[in-house]
Amino acid sequence: MINFTVGPVQMDDETRNLGSNQIPYFRTSEFSTLMKENEALLCKFMDAPDSSRVIFLTGSGTASMEGGVMNFFTPEDKVLVVNGGSFGHRLVELCQIHDIPYTEIKLDVGTQLTEEHLKCYENQNYTGFLIQLCETSTGILYDMNLVGKFCKENGLFLFVDAVSGFMADELSMKKMHINAVITGSQKALALPPSMSFTVMDQVAINRCKQINVRNLYFNYPDYLLNGERGQTPFTPAVGTLIQLNEKLKRIDSSGGIINQNRIAKERAEYFRTQIEGLPLKMFMSNKDSSNCVTALMPTKPGVNAHKVFEIIKDEYGIWICPNAGEMAEKVFRVGHIGSIKKEEIDTLISVFKELVKREIL
Ligand SMILES: *Cc1c(COP(=O)(O)O)cnc(C)c1O
Repeated sequence: MINFTVGPVQMDDETRNLGSNQIPYFRTSEFSTLMKENEALLCKFMDAPDSSRVIFLTGSGTASMEGGVMNFFTPEDKVLVVNGGSFGHRLVELCQIHDIPYTEIKLDVGTQLTEEHLKCYENQNYTGFLIQLCETSTGILYDMNLVGKFCKENGLFLFVDAVSGFMADELSMKKMHINAVITGSQKALALPPSMSFTVMDQVAINRCKQINVRNLYFNYPDYLLNGERGQTPFTPAVGTLIQLNEKLKRIDSSGGIINQNRIAKERAEYFRTQIEGLPLKMFMSNKDSSNCVTALMPTKPGVNAHKVFEIIKDEYGIWICPNAGEMAEKVFRVGHIGSIKKEEIDTLISVFKELVKREIL
């Protein structure tokens, strides 16, 4: 199997080997030390300001989306939510469920967020801003410098869902004025699904302590308190955290996050050059695309994108990523995160070419 989805993605051999070990008991000083290292390295890779902290939540990326909405906002807030696809829509749903007053900036799918979209919300007493770094359903990479500047100038708390974008795309909490940012284990970190992580600056730490949400499992102040001694309130996905530690250290000793960004960029560019000439159109323009994923539309009339996904899966053992909802039959995606070799991209390209010959694509 070759896996070009956007998560779970192909794991490195080092990660897989660790996965065969027994899971140790975790209320130990050894595990606390490992967790402290995890915290420091995640802060480093997110370019977090000094005194930032990390919440290690057992649950997929959505758990940390929900945890963030619950711990950083209340019905006293008034937030802006960017909705440019299914993950933006999820942020909107979370604001609805948790009674957070919000205004939705709904983008036509495939269009970039611009200064024009934000202008009318200046000096309007908004208190928060929620957005993805990469909206994985379309592959758009938002201009986080623009968003960060807007939030700083208007005093908005900036919460960023970088579940798919972290490591693939440039991300700096300091430069982009991000207060809290989340990522997940099964995306570019290429670990098993099970955990998600929130890096928070001092403003975010103070905010969640002040709010002190009435919830047992999602109580961030409780996580912060336990985290002071390198622990979590409840049993975490211990195995994933051990794999995370090995992965973060390996990144650190091999050129750091800059090198990861570079690898992702080169891989995405290689794929995008190789598809030139095929009857596939990139859903986003190159300059608005994340390095995490490429969304593609078959251009030949009558070609069904979901059918292409199924044929490639069933007949060639390769998984590309189907889209859900309205775009299901028009768009499929090819992910560039996880352990993907150049030869595997070449294999996928030759399958596309064969499908063209077979008049399926
Ligand atoms: C994958 C993803 C998530 C989380 O999805 P889970 O299935 O809950 O892990 C959240 N946001 C974005 C942008 C994602 O790509």
